Amino acid sequence: MFAPEVIRNVVQTHPHLIYDGAACHNVYYTPPEEFFGVDAPARENERMLRTLRDRTTAKAQLHRRERFLQNLYEVSSDPTRSFEEKLQALFDLGCGQFSLELGAMATVDSDADQFEVEFVSDDHEYFEAGLELPLSETYCTAATDTGGIGSVADPVAAGYDDIHVHNEFGIKTYLGTYIEVEGDDNRTFFFVSEKPRDEDFSANERTFQRLLGQWVKYELERQQRERFLHECYEITSDPALGFEEKLEQLLELGCDRFDLEIAGLNHLPSWDGKFRLEKGIGLGLDADEELWTDPDNGCYCRQTVTEDSPVEMLDVRGTHWAEDAIYQEFGLTSYLGTKVSTGAAPYGTLWFGSTEPRERPFSETERSFIELMGQWVSYEIERRENNDSQRKLYEITADPDLDPDEKIDQLLAVGCKRLNLPIGMLTRKRERAFEIEHMHGTHPELDEGTLTPPLTDNYCRRVVNTGDSISVGDAEAAGWDGDALYHEFDLKCYAGTQVFVRGENYGTVCFTDLGTREEFTEAEQVFLDILGQCVSYEIERQQHEADLKDTIEQLERSNDRLRQFAYAASHDLQEPLRMVSTYLQLLENRYKEDLDGDAQDFIDFAVNGANRMREMVDDLLAFSRVEHADDEFDSVDCDAVLDHVTDDLRMQIEENDAEISSESLPTVSGDHEQLEHLFSNLVSNAIKYNESDPPCVEISADQRANSWEFSVTDNGIGIAPDEADKIFDVFKRLHHDDEYSGTGVGLSLCQKIVNNHGGEIWVESEPGEGATFSFTLPATRNPTQ
Ligand code: ADP
Repeated sequence: MFAPEVIRNVVQTHPHLIYDGAACHNVYYTPPEEFFGVDAPARENERMLRTLRDRTTAKAQLHRRERFLQNLYEVSSDPTRSFEEKLQALFDLGCGQFSLELGAMATVDSDADQFEVEFVSDDHEYFEAGLELPLSETYCTAATDTGGIGSVADPVAAGYDDIHVHNEFGIKTYLGTYIEVEGDDNRTFFFVSEKPRDEDFSANERTFQRLLGQWVKYELERQQRERFLHECYEITSDPALGFEEKLEQLLELGCDRFDLEIAGLNHLPSWDGKFRLEKGIGLGLDADEELWTDPDNGCYCRQTVTEDSPVEMLDVRGTHWAEDAIYQEFGLTSYLGTKVSTGAAPYGTLWFGSTEPRERPFSETERSFIELMGQWVSYEIERRENNDSQRKLYEITADPDLDPDEKIDQLLAVGCKRLNLPIGMLTRKRERAFEIEHMHGTHPELDEGTLTPPLTDNYCRRVVNTGDSISVGDAEAAGWDGDALYHEFDLKCYAGTQVFVRGENYGTVCFTDLGTREEFTEAEQVFLDILGQCVSYEIERQQHEADLKDTIEQLERSNDRLRQFAYAASHDLQEPLRMVSTYLQLLENRYKEDLDGDAQDFIDFAVNGANRMREMVDDLLAFSRVEHADDEFDSVDCDAVLDHVTDDLRMQIEENDAEISSESLPTVSGDHEQLEHLFSNLVSNAIKYNESDPPCVEISADQRANSWEFSVTDNGIGIAPDEADKIFDVFKRLHHDDEYSGTGVGLSLCQKIVNNHGGEIWVESEPGEGATFSFTLPATRNPTQ
């Protein structure tokens, strides 16, 4: 136990040791003489007073420190203030804190002995922005020499009494920090006064100054980063620039930022091959000059393509890189490179370098910049590749010269290239397995016609069952190793999408390899889906075309049969008909005297019937003979045709006192004989179905884009509109033979002729109002004819 005297001493000198009304145990006790030192006031009450004073000072200091930190925090985190405003606030804070008159910031270069004032907190007789001096003529060397905080309270003692700033500007006191700024000029941030100072700056004041300096460094570097990112953004988002120009500007920006004079984008077309320079600056190459380089493993770009993070080299000399051809040939001494890839496939490298060794290491910021640039280039290249492959898919699908098998094969080839996989297949879903219908690339056991083993639930089966595309870079990692396609056929990676034809699951388009690969990117999966659609579309089109061909063939066969039948029937019927009429006439002539009136009438009816039937058979024969003969069309002058027709119909015209008028008619492309039939039927009908006196028929023609529209208008009995379509059917008549003779074949023949010429025929009429029959015929290809 301690004596009460000792306890009292402890309590008085270490008040904080009293806890909860009791003195804490286990405290190392220092006797007062030792604790206060030999000079300490011997009397107890004086000692107590001093302790109290010290504590008050410490408390005040703590308070000041807290307030300072609080102020610093408020200034620096204020989002409404600009950098300059914040800097000013910090100058004010420092001036108050250190009791100095002026705060300033300057760019400095120790090697070049340069100093230039950038900002000052207040108007000053000598210090103002833009002031340049040799660094050695300023107090800032106190800071730059230490690489951190420097202070001068007594210039004479510190050896600063012969510098310019002391002699000419009368500066007596200095507190400053040297700030190394990444990617920018180095700075000093300092406070000065013309008043001398009794004692040097305290540890606390130096700490404050350090904090201020840290903030300035942080801010300057942040600005620097933002400026760089902003510049990158300005370049990459400029719609007026193409990829090449953007790349060039980015490389220039990077050179500037990393302080390296050479840069390039290297492409590695095949993994074991050489790198091709796609774009380079600072190499002194012509735009069309090709440069292939081949660094050793573990050197330069060869190392960079294999690593996920940037590769750097500050000075190749003395390292194994110095043995490499790149150093030997080009003297590339410092290097910073990053990998560029398209989707999962490596594309090459984006790199910067110099023939000079580099003094300072690459900072984290610089490494992240090159990574960012590499990502942008990767993204752009993938986007371009995507567009290219998509365009290729559409071109193949739309190419009319490719036969269906070639098309599928070329589509699969584009897929293999884009997904960087050697085998592409179109599979057809069968009941239990999938049949390979097309295969691009080779597999030791699989080929066109092969049926996959039934238990393959993970590959194509899953695609058709879920209706979703599937891509797996490593089948084993995905848990597919129990699948027969994995353990029997070694398919280690897979990307497949559904082929959907006429609303039905047809099968899949899929790509695979005997080795694994990295997981598929979003863009690759989108590409796969589009490829699936192209293949689906192609198969659907093939099926439609096959169907259409079938239908046309069937139609042609049935038309042929019909034509043969119509011809044979009408031809063969003529003979017995002729016999019927001949024998009836024989009967009439030979037994005229023996026949009574009724018998005579019956024979007349029979003869008329037979005649009528012969007419019908003749017309039918004419109808079946009208053939389509597009390639044999001539230029036919319709005026001449009409003249010929009116000549033929002269009897009918004269008997009815009909008036035929026509405008000058054009020359058309057609079959002369068929057009004569056409005009003849229409003009003859126009006179026949007419009770006006006189019957008038008017023929005219109007020009259309590539055809002529003809009209034959009469002032006859007209047709009810609901009958207008029927009259073009074979044997369809609106009148009995007693009223108007005819067979009902004329207009169907007209329709067939017009259709043969690629035109249309129609009628406009009202009963009692006359009728207008209109039809179109193709214009001649040479309008002068
Ligand atoms: P047909 O004249 O031998 O009876 P068409 O095929 O030429 O046979 O004509 C079919 C039917 O159309 C005719 O029976 C007639 O009723 C009607 N028709 C044809 N042309 C005219 C016309 N110019 N005016 C009124 N009706 C017509």
